[in-house]
Amino acid sequence: MTLAMNSSQRLVLCLALVACASCEPGSSSERPNVVLVVVDTLRADHMSLHGYERPTTPRLDAFAAESAVVFEQARSAAPWTKPSVASIFTGLDSRQHRVLRHIDSLHSSFRTLAQTFGENGWQTHGIQSNPYLMSVFGFEKGFIDYKDELASQVEGGTIARYNFSTGERINELAFDWVDRRTGDAPFFLYVHHYEPHHMYLAEEPAFMPAADALPEPARRELLASLKMDELMGGKAEGTPEDVAYLAARYDSEVLLQDRLIGELLDGLRSRGLLENSVVVITADHGEEFLEHGDFSHQNYKLFDELLHVPLLISAPGIEPTRREDGVGLVDLGKTLLGLCGLESAPFPGDSFASAVRGTAPDDSDKGVVAYGMLPEVGGLSRSAQATESLVMGRWKLIRNVRAKTSMLFDLEADPGEEHDLAEQEPEKVLQLEQQLAGYLDSRGGIGPPLAPESPELLRRRAAAERELENELKDLGYLGEDEDSELVPLEPDPAEADSLELISSETDGE
Ligand SMILES: [Zn+2]
Repeated sequence: MTLAMNSSQRLVLCLALVACASCEPGSSSERPNVVLVVVDTLRADHMSLHGYERPTTPRLDAFAAESAVVFEQARSAAPWTKPSVASIFTGLDSRQHRVLRHIDSLHSSFRTLAQTFGENGWQTHGIQSNPYLMSVFGFEKGFIDYKDELASQVEGGTIARYNFSTGERINELAFDWVDRRTGDAPFFLYVHHYEPHHMYLAEEPAFMPAADALPEPARRELLASLKMDELMGGKAEGTPEDVAYLAARYDSEVLLQDRLIGELLDGLRSRGLLENSVVVITADHGEEFLEHGDFSHQNYKLFDELLHVPLLISAPGIEPTRREDGVGLVDLGKTLLGLCGLESAPFPGDSFASAVRGTAPDDSDKGVVAYGMLPEVGGLSRSAQATESLVMGRWKLIRNVRAKTSMLFDLEADPGEEHDLAEQEPEKVLQLEQQLAGYLDSRGGIGPPLAPESPELLRRRAAAERELENELKDLGYLGEDEDSELVPLEPDPAEADSLELISSETDGE
C-alpha cells in the first residue's frame, strides 16, 4: 500500500482530523454507557466460547463473533468472590485491598470504580446476588443505588433451596432501573449473576453423560444435594463417574447463564442502548472438579480451573477479534475508564484499553498475579495456605508463601497444570519469583494501615453477618469451626503482622 496522496485526499484527511479534534468531550460516543456483567463461578474452559466440547455458550459465541473482543487469557485476581470482585471494584490486588478472609469487608477508604464513574457524570447502579457482596460489606461505595437481590430475600427461602432462576430476576431489575432513569447522562450498570455457582440446580439438566457412564440414582441424588462445605477441603471423594455427573450439571447451569446473558443483551438492544455501550462479560472465578483434589472453589488454590475466566468486551467502534495476550481483571476498571475517555481519572491499574481497541500487539505480556486466601484466624498457624501466582506468557508460577516453595507449569504444553517443572527449570523459577516479589511495589506497595471503620458501620456489619450466618452455613460457605469468626472485630494486630510478615518474606526472598 502506498501512502502517497494527492491534494484533495490531503484536504479530506485534514478535515477529518479537524472534525475529530473538535469532537465534544461530552458527546455520547465519547461517554458511552458501561454494562459490567460478572458471572459467579464461570470457568473459561467449560464455555464453547473457548473451545469446550459441549455447546454451553451459544449466545456468547454469537456475541463474540458479531461485536466483542475476546481475551483468551484473562485471569481473576483471586480464586473466590470477595477478593476478586474487590479487585475489579478498586483496581487493587488482594494484599492491597486486604479483603482476604470471609469476614473481611471492603474498607471505606478505597476509591471504587463506581465512585470514579459517578464523579465524572455517570449514573451508577448495581444489582447483585451473592451474600458476600452485600452493600453493608462495603461493595456499594460509589453506586447511587446498589441492590442486594439474594434469593432468600425474594422467596423467603435460602439460595440452596431455590428452584427458580434468580438470573431472570436480576435481569428484570436491571431493565427496571434502565427504564426508570431520567436525564441523558450515561450510566454504569453492574450486574452480578449467580447461576453456575454450586448448587447446580437445573431440574432438567441440558447435558448428561451417557446412561451407562452415570453413577447410580441414589448416588446422583446424594451428589446433587451436597453443600459447599461437604464438597470442599478434600471432604468429598469422587469417582470419574461422579465428576462427570457434577460437571454435566454445572455445564447445564452455564448454558442457562448463557441464555440469561443473551436476554440481557436483547433487552439492551431493543432499548437502543447496546450500540452506545461498553459491554463487559466476565466472571469472578472458576470451579473445580477434582483436577487438583477438590470440588467447588478452594480459596487458597490458584490453578487455572479457578483463575482462568472469560472476558468479552464490546465498545463503540471496536472490531470483533480474539486476543492471546494475558490480562488481569484487576486492570479491568482502569481499562473501562480508558474506553470512556477517562484515562486520567485517579484510579489504580494498568489499562489494557489499547488492546481492546486493537492498537497494541497481542503477544505482549506484563504478567498476571493472583493471591490466595490468608488464614481464617489472625495467628500464623494456618497461613500455610497463603499462596500467590504469576502467569507470564506460557509460564505459570504458583508459590506457597510460608513454605517458600514454588511450582512451575508450562500452560501451553500442560494446560491442566499436572506436571510441576520447578526442578527442571530452576532459572525460570528464579526469574518468575523475582518478578512476583517486585510486583506489589510496582503497583504502589501494600499501603498504610487502614483506620478503624466507624462503630456504627461495624455494628451494622455485625448484625448483617449474624443474619447471614445461618444462610451461609446452609449454603455450605461456612464450616462449623468458623462460627466464632463471623463477628467483625476491630482490625486485628495479629492479622496485620501476618500480612507484613508475608510481605517481607515475599520481598526478601
Ligand atoms: Zn464467586
